[in-house]
Amino acid sequence: MNFQQLSNPQYWSNLFSSPWSIAINVLDIALVAWILYYFTKAIAGTKIMILVRGVLLFILAQIIAASIGLTTISWLFNQVITYGVIAAVVIFTPEIRTGLERLGRATEIFSATPLSSEEKLIQAFVKAVDYMSPRKIGALVAIQGSRTLQEYIATGIPLDADVSGELLINIFIPNTPLHDGAVIIQDDKIAVSCAYLPLTENSGISKEFGTRHRAAIGLSEVSDAFTFVVSEETGGISITHNGVFKHNLSLEEFEAELRKVLIPGQPKDKPALLERMLGGWRR
Ligand code: ATP
Ligand code: MG
Repeated sequence: MNFQQLSNPQYWSNLFSSPWSIAINVLDIALVAWILYYFTKAIAGTKIMILVRGVLLFILAQIIAASIGLTTISWLFNQVITYGVIAAVVIFTPEIRTGLERLGRATEIFSATPLSSEEKLIQAFVKAVDYMSPRKIGALVAIQGSRTLQEYIATGIPLDADVSGELLINIFIPNTPLHDGAVIIQDDKIAVSCAYLPLTENSGISKEFGTRHRAAIGLSEVSDAFTFVVSEETGGISITHNGVFKHNLSLEEFEAELRKVLIPGQPKDKPALLERMLGGWRR
């Protein structure tokens, strides 16, 4: 199809020629709208958004140049767009891989234990926080959501390790080389420790919260990551998610928040990990 077709009445009447073709065209438009919506939502607020905006402007300029007959300029824009796509694939390989892996996992409908990896993560986080909070071991852990945290991962020390409560505790033991900064969890792995997260610029936050808490809040303002903090001063447990900051949570409340984010569809009456553990000891 090309843009001249849009001024052709035959083209428009063909679109509405039968109920079947109307249904197909409506489905087509709905699917494109759905894809655009989720794509925009996933990249909103990331560096990729700026790039996409640039590319769209470029395509618009190319269309305008072609329609008013600036042949050479239009050819030049065309070349840049063609090779730009190849360059973008090379530059954004990590993001593309993460996206495709996510897509692959979403379609694993016949998987035997679809919840087990999330359940393991929850157990590890609860175990680590249960140990660190009473001992006032400061910790900051960000769990990547649908938007990539690659630019913050790049600031940390790579670990690429399986998540376990023991390892998380070990990382945050004070005065050890990996304890400073944030741990980032990406695709069920500890991607890095010692990562630098963006501090919030919100001046309304109480002075009792220092940079560790401000980094957690800052990240939640620019991404959909779920972040938790154990305070070194009070042992208090806090979480941030989508700009919301909750502090002084009990271990049970912390686990409930984790479950809401990591296993969103889980029925409310499923016993929490803590209760199941207590149940086990009582038996
Ligand atoms: P706490 O209650 O644990 O003392 P806090 O909110 O008062 O936390 P600080 O006392 O300022 O915060 O904590 C400093 C620690 O927080 C640093 O040693 C570092 O590990 C971590 N931290 C500070 N800023 C950042 C940041 N931008 N990204 C990641 N980690 C950070
Ligand atoms: Mg402090």
